[in-house]
Amino acid sequence: MNKKILIIEDEPAIRQILSEPLKFEGYEVACAADGVEGLNAFREQAVDLVILDIMLPKLDGYRVCEMIRRESQVPVILLTALDSEDAQIKGFDKLADDYITKPFSVKLVLKRVEALLRRTSRGDENITLRYKDLSINEAERRVCVAGREVSLTRLEFEILLLLMKNIGRVFSRDDLLNLAWGYDFAGGEKGVNFHIMNLRRKLNVGYIETVRGVGYKIAKD
Ligand code: CA
Repeated sequence: MNKKILIIEDEPAIRQILSEPLKFEGYEVACAADGVEGLNAFREQAVDLVILDIMLPKLDGYRVCEMIRRESQVPVILLTALDSEDAQIKGFDKLADDYITKPFSVKLVLKRVEALLRRTSRGDENITLRYKDLSINEAERRVCVAGREVSLTRLEFEILLLLMKNIGRVFSRDDLLNLAWGYDFAGGEKGVNFHIMNLRRKLNVGYIETVRGVGYKIAKD
């Protein structure tokens, strides 16, 4: 599958200068024109790398970078326009993976993108699954809702992981018992209801749905 790159940049000309050659190199490209739109796009799509302008309407690039970092280790390249931003940039060394000063050469950007993707590409076991504002990382045992980390019990985590891996599929209480934690769980079907209830309360999202008489699913919209 092609790697997907999200460009968050308010200037249409720069979006175009970047997106065309990236597409030509075989990347999938998504664009956003301000910080809020960018963050939403990031949360809704499985993105492999973000190119992020600093001076952005609504939410600046630093803020966006912070929010992305709370949820994910996806590589981020900051785009900066001014030398005076250099001092600030240094504070962001730990958050962003790289930065490029405008005006830039497209060749350089392509090289940096390629290098970063090579450096950060990880095995399948460390993929962050996302649905709307919810993200879950199996290897790191981390769950975030809208940038807030949520602490779950092992069983709650297993149920959520199963639902997130199978968006739109309905699981009976029995399925969840068997698949999530095996046959040795003593709580039975009532136990499943209890864990789902806690999960909903902790996540505070509306999309873990009850399918009457059948079980549970995360909606496919
Ligand atoms: Ca800008």
